[in-house]
Amino acid sequence: MIVRDKFYINGEWVPPIGQGTLEVVDASSEEVMACVPAGAVEDANNAVEAASAAFESWGMTTPQQRQDYLRKLHTAMAARQDELAEIMAGEVGMPLSMAKSIQAGLPLQGVSNFIKILDNYSFEETLGNSDIIKEPVGVVACITPWNFPLHQIMAKVCPALAAGCTVIVKPSEVAPLTAFMLAEMVEEAGFPAGVVNVITGLGPVVGEALATHPKVDMVSFTGSTRAGKRVAELAADTVKRVVVELGGKSPSLILDDADIDEAVRGTVNDCYFNSGQTCAAHTRLLVPEAAYERVAKLAVDVAQSLTLGQSDDPKAKLGPVISKVQQERVRNYIRQGIEEGAELLCGGPEQPDDLPTGFFIKPTVFGNVSQDMTIAREEIFGPVLSIMSYKDEEEAITIANNTIYGLSSGVWTKDEDRARRVARRLRSGNVIINGGAFNMMAPFGGFKQSGNGREHGPYALDDYLECKALQM
Ligand code: NAD
Repeated sequence: MIVRDKFYINGEWVPPIGQGTLEVVDASSEEVMACVPAGAVEDANNAVEAASAAFESWGMTTPQQRQDYLRKLHTAMAARQDELAEIMAGEVGMPLSMAKSIQAGLPLQGVSNFIKILDNYSFEETLGNSDIIKEPVGVVACITPWNFPLHQIMAKVCPALAAGCTVIVKPSEVAPLTAFMLAEMVEEAGFPAGVVNVITGLGPVVGEALATHPKVDMVSFTGSTRAGKRVAELAADTVKRVVVELGGKSPSLILDDADIDEAVRGTVNDCYFNSGQTCAAHTRLLVPEAAYERVAKLAVDVAQSLTLGQSDDPKAKLGPVISKVQQERVRNYIRQGIEEGAELLCGGPEQPDDLPTGFFIKPTVFGNVSQDMTIAREEIFGPVLSIMSYKDEEEAITIANNTIYGLSSGVWTKDEDRARRVARRLRSGNVIINGGAFNMMAPFGGFKQSGNGREHGPYALDDYLECKALQM
């Protein structure tokens, strides 16, 4: 059992002022694997003071100096990739081999991308008689969710540090352990005191303290739309910059000329990735009426071919969901889908017979889903796919856009021009064409209530910079 009982503030490991502790539960065994401090408002305040003091000199470093620190951080992280993967496989439940490449691999990719970006990112330009200078925003509070714990943290910390900002990291209380490891790696890399601070605690306590603190210049938040709205409201009082990455209900459009096998396989795998706990998951599969029967059968075949298992089971393709609360939440959505008249094609709300322990949800496919059903409108965040049929391309686009969200969409067609034309009409920050690969240099973020701002690559750096114009 891992015990974390100190915060990393101002380059030191200090005892928390908050007296409570929070348990971290292994999603596969349901056993408590660790405990961490439940910070108090005073802990958040101390971390902000440290970040604010450190900003004075860190904000004046050159891009090359920051690049050197990021290189050292990369070395420290690479040395602990296996350990990071094991911890996150436990917390989140993702099968270990996948956790190694995804949960531990993506954060490393993020650090190396920002090292590259700093090679030629232009922090200054001339416009007429003006020098335009891009300067760091200042102190950034990074509040993150549990689905990809370290990846979500690094998606904020990398651009913030590259820009010259100082940070307070407040990870999810459900999967906080790699944030402490990050603090150790920051220490090993020799970052100046106060540039990176790590505290843990409940959102309504430490998260809200950070969102309201007058010395926090920016909140970068990833999580639910509900909590994101609350953070934005609180931050408004001090006119902070607020960047939010929120939920999704992303559609996958199979057009009538698509390779149906490839499209169904691609969408089902995308929907169930990380047991459906992915903000950009393609959870609404839109198919031409004529192809509905074939698609429904294929989707069930793919869903049933995925082996469920505990995170240390080498045969497992799909792990549990993260917690008892999440399992219950997903089960309720499945029950609601059945009650509202969707056709349960496979899966269901029951615990799988062969896996009595672990927060498992059977891969679930619903057919004949209509737009007004709860399962077609709300983010489920579990392995649940809804199949909906459409008459023609116009109707497919209308159904795709009929959501409060706009994070991602998928388009499947053999005609590239058609793909581009349809993609332009979809109101989402990403459109994945024929299963195109995730590119961590491309901007990632949402339209509508999926958020604002963009993470990853050079566009993310812009979010952490202020523009200053010198009129000469
Ligand atoms: P959550 O909103 O419950 O928690 C996210 C973070 O916010 C946690 O650190 C939590 O402690 C904090 N928080 C909660 N209430 C707060 C408050 N009142 N003030 C300040 N902070 C508060 O989300 P979650 O359950 O951890 O993650 C799942 C959600 O995250 C899903 O909706 C998913 O779509 C979303 N998500 C979005 C993206 C994206 O990039 N768009 C990526 C991953 C997850």
